[in-house]
Amino acid sequence: MSLFLWVGFVLCMLSANPSLSLYGSSLSDIPTRFLSYAKEKEFSDWMVDVRRKIHANPELGYGEFETSRLIREELDKMGIKYKHPFAVTGIIGYIGSGKPPFVAIRADMDALPLQEMVEWEHKSKVPGKMHACGHDAHVAMLLGAAKILKDHADLKGTVLLVFQPAEEGGGGAKKMIDTGVLKDVNAIFGLHVDPKLSLGQVASRPGALLAGSGFFEAVISGKGGHAAIPQHSIDPILAASNVIVSLQHLISREADPLDSQVVTVAKFQGGGAFNVIPDSVTIGGTFRAFSKESFHQLRQRIEEVITGQAAVQRCKAIVKFNEEDKPFFPPCINDKELHEYFRKVAGDMLGFDKVKDMQPLMGSEDFSFYQEVMPGYIFFLGMQNETQLEFAHSPYFEINENALPYGAALHASLAAGRLHELEHKSDGHDEL
Ligand SMILES: [Zn+2]
Ligand SMILES: [Zn+2]
Repeated sequence: MSLFLWVGFVLCMLSANPSLSLYGSSLSDIPTRFLSYAKEKEFSDWMVDVRRKIHANPELGYGEFETSRLIREELDKMGIKYKHPFAVTGIIGYIGSGKPPFVAIRADMDALPLQEMVEWEHKSKVPGKMHACGHDAHVAMLLGAAKILKDHADLKGTVLLVFQPAEEGGGGAKKMIDTGVLKDVNAIFGLHVDPKLSLGQVASRPGALLAGSGFFEAVISGKGGHAAIPQHSIDPILAASNVIVSLQHLISREADPLDSQVVTVAKFQGGGAFNVIPDSVTIGGTFRAFSKESFHQLRQRIEEVITGQAAVQRCKAIVKFNEEDKPFFPPCINDKELHEYFRKVAGDMLGFDKVKDMQPLMGSEDFSFYQEVMPGYIFFLGMQNETQLEFAHSPYFEINENALPYGAALHASLAAGRLHELEHKSDGHDEL
């Protein structure tokens, strides 16, 4: 019996006997079986093919129209119902009974404004755009999970497949939530590929995992003039330089050293000649914190320091936080109960020594918007093999495609198992 048939047989047996517990002591190897299924050549080749198609045609946040179309075509082929569009290009797929409980699994679809430097057959065909954060792989893995779950015909509830736009600063998750389509979801799971974690390993932590983040931009205006006669000018370059130095004090002198925070000025634009003092300088950057109080304190002080320090230098400053285009991301706070649940499922699949605890990171993820309104859990999925992979957002970023079956099987196992656990808690009977 081929592996495919064997797995099908096991799943049929489960479907035929609802008294069997998906995660009972005798069946805790279901995650392993899901992984074996996803690793089957035909299955993994299909995921690789989907991922490569998306990789070759990267689309930026809220412009993922072809990616969205490709996903819907694959859902159609699998006979999976879906609704769209949400938040311009987003899709919600539905697998299972159509009744509560509801568990969601999520992938982001957007690429980055970056020129790919990796020379390979499926290199980005769009100049200046690249899937350099692995969201192409995330989509392929979520479709893989959909296929596994679809083949498991007897889900005790409904799995929602969340394909969201615009994770990279656009806050697509927030817009998906605002449509109301996820209001009855009991739990949501997400993952992110990690090029520095070994293939076959996962890592996360309970509580705060990723920081809240915001962006700021300031135009500091003085009075331009001849660089050799500075007394007739008001120099915005010197003012901006003082502003940047003063901003460093927010972390080193005002923040609690035990409460991790970041302020980085990453943009400095002004002047175009060696002998001309410009009229204005534009600076911009990001700020990060784990608590809401610290985050809002930073926001307030960034504005005060920029305008105050610019005034000391006789300049005017206008500070913007551009929240419409780049909404503030809350911190990612992993649900503690879901952490224990994740450890069990991932441990059953990979071995408990492969489920790593990790330190919090100052990076951010818009998955946090889901976690503000429902229990949610996000983890990192290892990809590293013998070759050193570059960090995300590098023009040399590459995916180890051998990670795809792991992501698909973890998504599927987490969703199916959680439905099983929630089944007895659910008292609603509303159809979707
Ligand atoms: Zn990214
Ligand atoms: Zn990402």
